[in-house]
Amino acid sequence: MIQIESTILNIDELSVSYGGDKYSIDKVSAGIQKNKITAIMGPSGCGKSTLLRAINRMHELYPETHHKGSITLGGEDIYKINPIQLRRKIGMVFQRPNPFPTMSIYDNVIAAYILNGIKLKRSEKNEIVERSLREVGLWDETKDVLHKRGTFLSGGQQQRLCIARALAYKPEVILLDEPTSALDPIATAKIEDLLVKLKKNYTIILVTHNMGQAARISDYSMFMYLGELVEYGKTKKMFTTPKDERTEAYLMGKF
Ligand code: ATP
Ligand code: MG
Repeated sequence: MIQIESTILNIDELSVSYGGDKYSIDKVSAGIQKNKITAIMGPSGCGKSTLLRAINRMHELYPETHHKGSITLGGEDIYKINPIQLRRKIGMVFQRPNPFPTMSIYDNVIAAYILNGIKLKRSEKNEIVERSLREVGLWDETKDVLHKRGTFLSGGQQQRLCIARALAYKPEVILLDEPTSALDPIATAKIEDLLVKLKKNYTIILVTHNMGQAARISDYSMFMYLGELVEYGKTKKMFTTPKDERTEAYLMGKF
C-alpha cells in the first residue's frame, strides 16, 4: 500500500522565552505529520512542555513571555488566529487528570462550551457528550452516572474524560503532556490503545518520559536537549539508529 504523508503543523525556527533574553526553546523547526502520533522526549527542563504550550499559544498566559519564529496549522499562521478559536482546533490534555471538580461528567465534556458562554440545544449537548465519550471508550462505563461529578471516576477514567473534553470541539490536533505518568500500568495501557485508535481522526503530539510508550505507540519521535530539537524522525529509526550521540545516550538511560 502506498502511504502518502502530509504535514499539518509546521514549526519554523521557533524560540520561546519566559522573560529576558534566555530562550527555553531555541530555533525549533519541525513538520508534524497528519494522523500520526509524534512523541516528544528529553530530560527534565529541555523544553517539551514549552513547545506544546507554544503550539496552542498557552505560553502567552505567562506575563513576560515572548517568541520568535512561526507555526502554521494547515498553512494558516496560528499567531493570527484568535487563541480561543485556535484551542478549538488544537486541544490539550495535561499530566494530572483534572476534570473540573464541581462539574458533572456530562458538563465536563462540554465544559469548553459552558465556559465560553456558547448556548447549545439539549439535543446538541447530548450528541457531543455521547460522541466524545464513545470516542474515548467511556460511554458504556458512564452513561448511568453522567450526572455524577467527574471526580467520581477512577484516575484512568478521569484522564479519558479529560481527553473526551478535548475532543468535544472536534479538534484537528491533540496535545498531551505526559498523560499517563500519574496512572497505573493498566490505565496507562488503555490510554495507549486509545491514542492509537484516535490517530485515525486526529493528529496527536505526546510528551512522554516513558521511552517504552514512545516506542510502542508513536510513529515519529523528537528528542530535545537544553531547548534544542536534537533529532526528529521515524520512531523505529531513532530507536534503532539514533544519529546524535545525545539521543543515543538518552535512549541508553544515561540522563
Ligand atoms: P519536564 O520534563 O520536567 O516537564 P520540560 O521538558 O517540559 O520538563 P519545560 O517545562 O518546558 O521543560 O521548561 C523548559 C525551560 O523553561 C526550563 O529551563 C524551565 O525552568 C523554564 N521554564 C518553564 N516554565 C517556566 C516559567 N513559567 N517561567 C520561567 N521559566 C520557565
Ligand atoms: Mg514538562
